[in-house]
Amino acid sequence: MLKLYDTLTGVKRNFIPQEKGKVKIYTCGPTVYDYPHIGNFTAYIYADILRRYLEYLGYEVRHIVNITDVGHLTDDDIGQADSGQDKMLKAALREKKTPLEIANFYTNSFFEDVEKLNIKKASYYPRATSHIQQMIKIIQGLIDKGLAYEKNGNVFYDVKKFSAYGKLSKKKLDDLKVGARLEEHPDKKNPYDFALWLKAPKKHLLKWESPWSLGYPGWHIECSAMSMEYLGETLDIHTGGEDHIFPHHENEIAQSEGFTGKPFSNFWLHNRFLLVDGAKMSKSKGNFYRLADILEKGYQAVDFRLLVISSHYRSTSNFTWDAMDQAKKNRKRLQRFIEKLKEVENSEVDSKAEINLDNYQKRIDGAMNDDLNTPLALSILFELVSEINKKISLGEFSSKEASATINFWNKINSIFGLVFETTKKNIPADVLTLAKQRQEARENKNFKKADIIRAEIEAKGFLIEDSKNGQKLKKI
Ligand code: AMP
Ligand code: ZN
Repeated sequence: MLKLYDTLTGVKRNFIPQEKGKVKIYTCGPTVYDYPHIGNFTAYIYADILRRYLEYLGYEVRHIVNITDVGHLTDDDIGQADSGQDKMLKAALREKKTPLEIANFYTNSFFEDVEKLNIKKASYYPRATSHIQQMIKIIQGLIDKGLAYEKNGNVFYDVKKFSAYGKLSKKKLDDLKVGARLEEHPDKKNPYDFALWLKAPKKHLLKWESPWSLGYPGWHIECSAMSMEYLGETLDIHTGGEDHIFPHHENEIAQSEGFTGKPFSNFWLHNRFLLVDGAKMSKSKGNFYRLADILEKGYQAVDFRLLVISSHYRSTSNFTWDAMDQAKKNRKRLQRFIEKLKEVENSEVDSKAEINLDNYQKRIDGAMNDDLNTPLALSILFELVSEINKKISLGEFSSKEASATINFWNKINSIFGLVFETTKKNIPADVLTLAKQRQEARENKNFKKADIIRAEIEAKGFLIEDSKNGQKLKKI
């Protein structure tokens, strides 16, 4: 039985979805005013592992990831004030493009990296700017219920009126009151109240008509609106990084539960942060990386994925180039293992020795059932690799077992999502042409010609091997 640690209740609980066989997940997506960094992708990789494991268990998963293309205020600690500048707007001014151009550019860049990292596409990626009417409806509902108030065209959540406020982050209003980071806004009743709608200053590019002012929504309201629109009033699981527990998710709860009167999410999963060289990533410290920076150094995207899942999502992971080297080594080991399995599968080896794949699967399932323990699951996988490598070197691993192990790997890898880039693109075009000519010669039973071509290929630094599945090229 899958157990997941829920931030709200503070315990690992059996996961049972509301509807049998179906799971509804919401993940706070990127703010598309800049390139996402490797910390952001850490959060998305862990959410992907959750989704993949649920699918492995047979659930049908509906996964919604929003695209924040408005309203994420830079100085926004509790969603206050028009003193903070909209991040999208700031980027538009910086790059002299329209907010829509900026959003499209960075959304595409996000999708490219999602694909490189083999993160499964969400069922849908709703954009905040396309859901302003849904946000207005919820804000109006909160005002009608006395949970929000309007002043001078600005609308704030009246936090004091929502008695459960603080239940996720375990913060008390009294502590919040003295919190030095909370900025005042002249129209707020209390410093911990947060913005639902803000009147737009004249120069503001993104603004919409509303019952209160020509303005724009606060950051938090979009997730309440979009999750409700696509997943209903109660989610099975909400995911995000630990920094979102407060204020973002606390405020999502206040908005959604205040509006519907129903629990917002049955499980809250939060990943700890990815650090770089043990420190928080920041542009000023020069330890701020994008996926492109990693690929530039000759690593594969899968190496980073492997580094991330080598840590449990609830423990801080540390990015260093040494750790990347280790991840690359592990990837190569797996890659060689799969290649070897394919060779044995094609070589008709017979052996009585048997490998207990069921036991390995049970152990991996057990690790994953325990709050998605990917480091343990991976270590069990590497144990299997060692055992089989030993058997292969002793000639005690049969083709049949190799075939069964390949099936096993495909099944288990549907959880890990590791795709290795093939080395094909490293093979020069003239060698590929020769290989094709050799194949044709063999098909025409012209073995003499085939042998001559083989020698030519070898002279160019490549070995050619024949197997049931055709020819294979290897660098000498
Ligand atoms: P943001 O665009 O800031 O809303 O972040 C998108 C997601 O990335 C959120 O779930 C954040 O909590 C998460 N996140 C941001 N920085 C990191 C980090 N260094 N490590 C892990 N997750 C992060
Ligand atoms: Zn959110």
